[in-house]
Amino acid sequence: MACTIADVAIGVPKRTLFDYLIADTVPEIGARVLVPFGRRKLVGIVLGLKEQSNWPVDKLKPIEQVLDQQPVFSPAMLTMLKWASQYYQHPIGDVLQSALPVLLRNGKSSQMPAILIWQCSESGQQTDEAELKRSPKQQQLLLLLKQQPMPDSELKQQFSSAIINALHKKALIEQQHIIPELENYWHHQLQISSGPNPGIEQSLAITGITSHLDRFHPVLLEGVTGSGKTEVYLQAIEPLLKQAKQVLILVPEIGLTPQTVQRFKTRFNAPVGLLHSNLTDNERLAVWRQAKEGQLAIVIGTRSAIFTPFKQLGMIIVDEEHDNSYKQQDGFRYHGRDLAAVRARQQNIPLLLGSATPSLESLHNALSNKYQHFQLQQRAGVAQIARQQVFDIKNQPLQFGIAKGMQDRMAAHLQQGNQVMVFINRRGFAPSLLCHHCGYVEMCHRCDKSYTLHKGLNKLQCHHCGDAKHIPQHCHDCQSPQLISMGVGTEQLEQGLNQLFPAYKSIRIDSDNIRSKSRFHQMLEDINQGEYQILIGTQILAKGHHFPKVTLVLIVDVDGALFSMDFRAAENLSQLITQVAGRAGRAEQPGEMWLQSHHPEHPLLQDLLNNGYGHFARYALQERKLAQLPPFSFQALVRAEANSANKAHQFLQLAQQYFIDANEVISMGPFPALMEKRQGRYRMQLLLQSPNRASLQKALFNAIPQIENRPESSQIRWSVDVDPQDFT
Ligand code: ADP
Ligand code: ZN
Ligand code: ZN
Repeated sequence: MACTIADVAIGVPKRTLFDYLIADTVPEIGARVLVPFGRRKLVGIVLGLKEQSNWPVDKLKPIEQVLDQQPVFSPAMLTMLKWASQYYQHPIGDVLQSALPVLLRNGKSSQMPAILIWQCSESGQQTDEAELKRSPKQQQLLLLLKQQPMPDSELKQQFSSAIINALHKKALIEQQHIIPELENYWHHQLQISSGPNPGIEQSLAITGITSHLDRFHPVLLEGVTGSGKTEVYLQAIEPLLKQAKQVLILVPEIGLTPQTVQRFKTRFNAPVGLLHSNLTDNERLAVWRQAKEGQLAIVIGTRSAIFTPFKQLGMIIVDEEHDNSYKQQDGFRYHGRDLAAVRARQQNIPLLLGSATPSLESLHNALSNKYQHFQLQQRAGVAQIARQQVFDIKNQPLQFGIAKGMQDRMAAHLQQGNQVMVFINRRGFAPSLLCHHCGYVEMCHRCDKSYTLHKGLNKLQCHHCGDAKHIPQHCHDCQSPQLISMGVGTEQLEQGLNQLFPAYKSIRIDSDNIRSKSRFHQMLEDINQGEYQILIGTQILAKGHHFPKVTLVLIVDVDGALFSMDFRAAENLSQLITQVAGRAGRAEQPGEMWLQSHHPEHPLLQDLLNNGYGHFARYALQERKLAQLPPFSFQALVRAEANSANKAHQFLQLAQQYFIDANEVISMGPFPALMEKRQGRYRMQLLLQSPNRASLQKALFNAIPQIENRPESSQIRWSVDVDPQDFT
C-alpha cells in the first residue's frame, strides 16, 4: 500500500505531530509543506510518511502545497534536532522552526534564486567586432561575451548600462535568467598564503587535531589570550578545505571582529559566510543557501549558526567556548556549544573548542580524557598579560566609586599618554536614588528593585520592567529634599571621570550605546587611533577586542560576584578578569590591572591573581565535586511566574509531585528566583538535580507531559530549562 498520510511538525506549543493527507505530490521527509491548521495556514515540516492514521481519515485535511522539492533538513540535521527537542524538553515543531531562517519559516523558496546573465546572441556570434570600432567599449563587451556569458552584476562593474543597452538594441547580445552552477568553485581557486611558523605548543595541537580529521574527535584548546589559538584553527582546517570540506566556526555574540573574518578570507582566498544578529532576513537566507549548496568554504556565526546546513561539513570550531551567549535564554533553551558536540558526533567530524578561560564543563571533559587537551601557555606575539592586583577599599573614601589611590594610578598612566579602561561589572551595580535624611530608596513596586537613575534622560527607570518616571524632588517617606544618588553606573561614572580628569576624553561602551554593529566598530577604531584616553565599559569590552594602548585596567567592584547566590558567578567573574587582562597592553608596555574589593583576602581572588585562571578553574572543579554541583551533577530548572508568589509556588509543588518517584533525581525548592519579582510577576523555581544525566532525562521525559496535561499548567507561565546557566 502507498503512503497516503504525512506526519507534520508545526510550530505550535504541542509535542505531537499532526497527520495530513497527501494530495498529488508525495513530499520528501524534511521538506516544508503548507497545511491548514484551524483557520490559519501554517508552514510545517514533514517528519514521516505512513499508510494509516489513528484518526478517522475523513477527519484529516489534505496538505495544501508541498513547498520544497529538496528537503530543507538533511537526515543528519533532523536527527540532531529531534535529539535536541527531547533533551531540552521543547516541542519539535518549534525546534524545527527555530532552526530555519525567518524567510523559510514564512514559506519562501529554499532554492538559489535565478540570476540575470548576458550572453552573445546568434547574430552577435556572426558579427565581427571590428564593425564596432567606433565604440571601443562596445567592441570590448562583445568580445568578452563571445568568450563566455557573464552575470549582470559583474558586467555592470566594467561597463555602463548605456553600453550594454546599445548592444542589446542591436540584438548582438541577449539576457537570460539561470540558476547558478552549484559546484564549489572555491575549492579549485584555493590559494593558501603562508602563516607564521607554529611554536612547539601550537605544533602539538595542530598535529593532534589534523591526525584525526576523518572522525569525531573532540579537542579542548586551552590557550591564554594571544597565544595563537586562531592560528591553530587556521592551520588545522587547511587540509579539510583542500578536500573541499566546509568548516563552521561559532563565535560569541559580540566577538565577531572584521579582522578575524579577514584573516580567514585572506589565508585561503576562499568565500566566508557570516551569520550574526545584524543581518537582514534576505542576507541570512543567502548564507543558508550558499552553505547548503557547498558554495561557502567557511561559515562564521553566533549561536544559531549551529543550525546552518552544509553540503559537506568537515569540522566545527567553537571559539571562546565558555561564553554565556552560547546559551539561548528563552523559548528553545539550547546551548550552542553542546549542540556543536552533538552534531560533530552524529556527523562523525572533529570538534575544536577554544578558550583562554574554558568553562568548568569543558575543562572537566578534558581533564577526564573525554576530550583531547592542548594547552598554549606562551603568548605567540611579544605582548604580555597585565599584572593583576587587588586594591582594598574598606573604609576608603570613594569618589564615583573610585578610591583615591586608584585615581592617582589613573593620572600617572594618562600623563604618560596611555589609555585607561574602567570596568563595571553590571551585576554588581545599582545606582539608585537615596534619601540622605532617612535612607529611603525609590523602588519599583512591580519588581522590588531600586530604580536606576538616568540623569541624561532626567528619569528614574526600572531596568527589570522598563517602567520610567520623573525624578522626584522630595523623599516619598519623609519629604526631605536631600535626595542623593547611591552606587555608580556607567553613566555616572562617565560624568565623574570627566570631572576628575577634565583634560582627557572618555568614551562609554555599554549595550545602551552600541545598538549598531558598524557604530561599535567605529568606536573601536577611534579608540585604537587614540581618540579617547579613558574607556568605560561593561562585559562587552572583554570580548575579542585588543586594546594595545590600554596600560591600566580598573575593575570598580568585584564583591557582587564574590558573594552571589549563583554558583557560577565566581567562574564568570574570573573569566571576565582574565579576558580583560589579556586584551590590554603590548610588549613594551605590559599593563596593570586593579580590582577594587572590600575583601582582598578572599581565597578565590587570591588564587586567581597568584596562580591564574587555569589553576583557579582546577581548584573550583574540586569544590564543585565536593558540593556535587555541575559538571559533577546535572540540573534542570522548572521556572514559574504568576501575579502572586503563592500561585507560582503551588504550581511548582504540584510539578514536584511528578518527580518524587524518579530514580536518582532530587528536587529542591520551590524557592524564589534570584530576582524574585519582575514586571509585576512573582518568580519561583524548582531545581532538579541528578548525578546521572540519563536519570534526569528519564525523569523529565516522564514528568513534563503529565504536568502539561494538568489544567493548572495552562493558567500559569512556566518553562523547563535543561542545563540552566542563569538563576536570575
Ligand atoms: P588567540 O586567538 O589565542 O588570541 P592569535 O592566533 O590571534 O591568538 O595570535 C595572536 C597574535 O600572534 C596574532 O597577531 C598572530 O598572527 C600571532 N601569532 C600566532 N601564532 C604565531 C606564531 N607561531 N609565530 C608568530 N606569530 C604568531
Ligand atoms: Zn527621606
Ligand atoms: Zn520594574
